[in-house]
This record gives sequence, structure tokens and C-alpha cells, in this order.
Amino acid sequence: MRPGNWSFLDSMWRWASYTTDAGWTQAAGRVAIERLQAERLSRLLGWTRRQSRHYARLWDKLPNRDLRLSDLPPVHKAGLMAHFDDWVTDAAVTRKGVEEFARDPAGIGRPFLGRYAVFSSSGTTGVPGLIVHDAEALAVYDALGSSRMGAMAPAWNWNEPLTGHRYALIAATEGHFAGIVSWERLRALHPWFEANARVFPVTAPIREICAELERFRPTVVASYATVLRALASEKDAGRLDIAPKVLWYGGEWLAPMARDHIERAFCCRVAGDYGASEFLNIAFECERGSLHVNDDWVVLEPVDEDYEPVEPDTPSASVLLTNLANHVQPLVRYELGDSVTRVSKPCGCGRPFPVIRVDGRRDEILRLDDAKGHDVPVMPMALCTAVEEGCGVHRFQVVQTGPRALRVRVEIAPRQRDAAARVKEALGLFLARQGLSGIAVRVETGEIAAHPVSGKFRQVWREKPRHA
Ligand SMILES: [Zn+2]
Repeated sequence: MRPGNWSFLDSMWRWASYTTDAGWTQAAGRVAIERLQAERLSRLLGWTRRQSRHYARLWDKLPNRDLRLSDLPPVHKAGLMAHFDDWVTDAAVTRKGVEEFARDPAGIGRPFLGRYAVFSSSGTTGVPGLIVHDAEALAVYDALGSSRMGAMAPAWNWNEPLTGHRYALIAATEGHFAGIVSWERLRALHPWFEANARVFPVTAPIREICAELERFRPTVVASYATVLRALASEKDAGRLDIAPKVLWYGGEWLAPMARDHIERAFCCRVAGDYGASEFLNIAFECERGSLHVNDDWVVLEPVDEDYEPVEPDTPSASVLLTNLANHVQPLVRYELGDSVTRVSKPCGCGRPFPVIRVDGRRDEILRLDDAKGHDVPVMPMALCTAVEEGCGVHRFQVVQTGPRALRVRVEIAPRQRDAAARVKEALGLFLARQGLSGIAVRVETGEIAAHPVSGKFRQVWREKPRHA
């Protein structure tokens, strides 16, 4: 293996093997999927009990037989992070080492210790997390991405070097976030992809992103749902002239009306998936728009406030995730927090994977006025990234209270006394870059109201409709 880089042969071999497996499983149907899930779960639980001191302690009182998922206590990011070194199953992986690695932007897309990917997740819980994925897990995500999602949007299948596509990713680029790390890893592994892929920082002003996209003329654009919505508005207004063949969204909820708007604006299909830093491809969208869970590799349990299973067709208070692919940092009944609904009606596409609806993050695009009264859209993901990267504050809420006014509520840890001032400064700099100098930003400190069970909170919204 080349030091400091991914092994191409190793990853291609694993990818080919898991792609074959993913295809075979889908063809073999429901019974085979359930058998595979049970086998992989049993292997994961046995390994975790033997190799992770943290889980061994948590499961200490449980009988010394084959464990069932429902016997096990749910786990949470804050608790796991507090016991990081006992949680992981490779002694070479330490919280100190991973934190050091994740602080250096030069390492984005490069392997940690020559073999692991690290995703930092602030997520919507306001607790920063560091998730380490092993080579096996990465190969599974690659295979699920290229075979199941790739079937929906062949252009997305990065293993087809002859498609002649140009790929644009608009994402948070200033941290080890899952999107940019996965993208840079693919670029490092595939020279062909590297030559045809470009990243656009989501924190740039939307007009600047549009101008750069026009120069690059991508055929595939991947981003957050809110960014695609903002691009669709720019396209409608005649300020963006590109003709992509596929638009890809991930990480956020895309409302049906927003999807219609984007598809009409660009005259092309929007495809998407549901993933997290903890498992990249939890579910994929089929041609009928249903989200199918890759439940041969991930177990999702929609639960109520008491962590009891909820009935199908009922939105859950939270959801527990068990990652069957990753063994270096086991996630067993990990609380992800989104509201997930199991859909009882089978999808007409006939795929043997269960259908869910996800009602997770509902941040809003802000619409502020610049000094001349022109309307400037500000994307929540960009704004949050600017605050988090600018001052390391993770628990905050931003509310637009008027055409040129924001109110920010910040929860401050004891050693962050100057955080309010730094948030104000970081936001001011970010807004100035968007052409929004002089926006009134009122920062107040205090506790953030989060969902009592999921721990998630709405982070960015508009207090009243602009023209109401
Ligand atoms: Zn379907």
C-alpha cells in the first residue's frame, strides 16, 4: 500500500466483490436479504462484544448467548465520543489522533493511518462527532452507491469512464465532512474522475457559484436539497445557464413541491439518497421516487419517545441505526435522530428493499436584502458551515427576523466566553462575502431548545414570510 494514499487495487477488488454481492442480494429477494442481515448482525455483535471495551461494559449484564438487537440499549453520539478510545476496536485509532487528523484540511480525502476514512459530523444535534470507517465499509458504500443508486442515474456511476460526464459537487469543503471526503477519496482513487470533477464551496455567494458552474458546464450536479432549490430559482430568473442531465441531492429533506420546482427549472430528473456520516447510503431513491433501505447492510429502527418500535405508516420520534459493514467503530442501535416512517404499501418498482419516508432536517433558505434592496438567497448549510468553521460553535440557531435582520441564539460552553462576539464576527464576514454588508445581527446566548428525544433542533429559519 502506498503510504499516505489509498490502495487502488485493494479498493477496486473489494468494490467489485461487494458490487457482485449487492446485485446478487437484490436478485435473490426478501428471504435472502433477511438471512444475510441476520448473519451480518450476528457477526457484528460478536465482534463488538469481544473487541469494543465500551460496548462490552454496556452489555455486561446481558446473557452470554447470541444477542438480539432488541436486547441492547440505544447509544448516543455524546456518550460514544466521551468513551472514544474504548469504543473503537483498533488500538491504533485514538481520539487524539483522529482529532489531530480531522483538524488538518490537507488530509481531506486521504486515508487516516493509511486505511481509514474519517468523517466529522456536527449534524443537527449540535454535538460534534468523529466517525471512522474501515476499508470494508468504504467498499460497501462504494458498491451500494454505484450499483443501486447508479442504476437510477447511470451518469452517477463513476465507474463508467466513457460517459463523458462532468461532475460538480457543491458542498461544505472546509472540514472532514462525509460529502467532500468521499468525493476527494474517489478523485484520489480514479484519475479519470479527478479530471472530470470539480468542487464548489457552498459558502461562496450563490451568484459566484452560478458563474463558476456556467464556466464548468457540469452534466451532473450534486449538492444539498436547499442548494438545488436556490439554483433552480437562479435558473428561473435567467441568472444560471447550465443544462445538467442529472441533479443529485443528499443530506437534507426534499419536499415534493421543491422537487417539482427543481425538475421543471432544469428539465431533468432529481435523484437522491438518504445517508449520514454514520452510514453513507442508508437508502436510495428508485425511479418512482420511493426511498428503499439498503437493509442487507444497515438496520434502521424507527422508534417512539421510549425507544419502542412504531407502527408502519406512523412517523417516528427518532431512529436507531446499526451499521453492519463497519467494524472499526461499531454503531449498534445508534440514535440518528431523524423522524422516519416505514411505508407499508409496497413500491411498484418491485425492489425487495423496504420503503421509508424521512422527515429529518427542515432548514429554510433565508432571503435577505442587500444595501440596494436586491433579494439575496442565503443557504442554511453555507451559513452554518461559516459559523462552525469560523468559531467552532456548534449549538446555535439563526432566525431571519426582517429583510436585513438576523437573530442568533448561541449556547456557550464555559470556556467559550467570547463565543458570542466571534459568532457575530464570523457571520458578518460571511454575509459581507455574499454582498450583504450591514445586516443587523443580534446575538443572544442561552440554551437551545432541541427535540426532547431526537436531540435535533431546527437550526435556520425565517420568522415571518418576507412579503406577508
Ligand atoms: Zn421503488
